[in-house]
Amino acid sequence: MENRKIFVLPHKLLIALLLFTSTLCLSFVIPKSWNLSQIIGINKPKIEIINSNADNQQRVAEFQTAMEASLNEQLKQKNLLSVSPTSFNGKIIYEIKPIGNKKVIALTFDDGPWKNSTRQTLDILKKNNIKATFFVVGQALKNNPELGKQVITEGHAIANHTWHHWYHFMNPQVAAFEIDKTTDLIYQVTGVKTNLFRPPGGHLSNGLVAHARNKKYATLMWSADSRDFQQPAPETLVNNVIKNARPGGIILLHDGGAIALVPSKLYLR
Ligand SMILES: [Zn+2]
Repeated sequence: MENRKIFVLPHKLLIALLLFTSTLCLSFVIPKSWNLSQIIGINKPKIEIINSNADNQQRVAEFQTAMEASLNEQLKQKNLLSVSPTSFNGKIIYEIKPIGNKKVIALTFDDGPWKNSTRQTLDILKKNNIKATFFVVGQALKNNPELGKQVITEGHAIANHTWHHWYHFMNPQVAAFEIDKTTDLIYQVTGVKTNLFRPPGGHLSNGLVAHARNKKYATLMWSADSRDFQQPAPETLVNNVIKNARPGGIILLHDGGAIALVPSKLYLR
């Protein structure tokens, strides 16, 4: 419990301070020609008009318009947040160059979802109207699918951080399992087919990124590391981010510990 309190406090302060310095905007914009409904299997609702009465027809039309607007908003959020532009496919991204050098920055949370700390993180983000990207670990998502769904319903992006969060070298078959199984579970749980990937620990040469690049994932690294896994004092954590914050930056944070994955270590990147 004590560890959890220490971990959550820096996030609150960090987010409060970041609000003063930046406007969050995930900068991965999908080309307009993409049709996400084909990707994630959602079709627009069809409503049959069964009464020729003019008033009823108008009500049905208004209802249908409202339904489509709601669905389009959902698709827009998923479009913008969980799929990268095609120019990022197969690439390794550390930061982006926002148009007009806009003061936008992306918050990313790795290693979840975890029952308490992920819920707390989501609550803080919601309260401050911030959207972020959650790089989930497959086996953690399997244990907490409802939080994976909440990530999407609250307008955040969901991304792949492998099944086991292993660092060691993996042959192509194991690397494929780690990434593909996680993407499949994300799809089953949320209906979102993500192509955003981050290798555990930022390791680029243990076989995972080779598979991710072959499969055209955008491998997203970071430009500022909060080093929250070291559980620093809140001021230190905030400073770790602020000193490297710049337009188009990607901030590395965690919404929980890997304590259940590797009991001997409190936090992993
Ligand atoms: Zn990690």
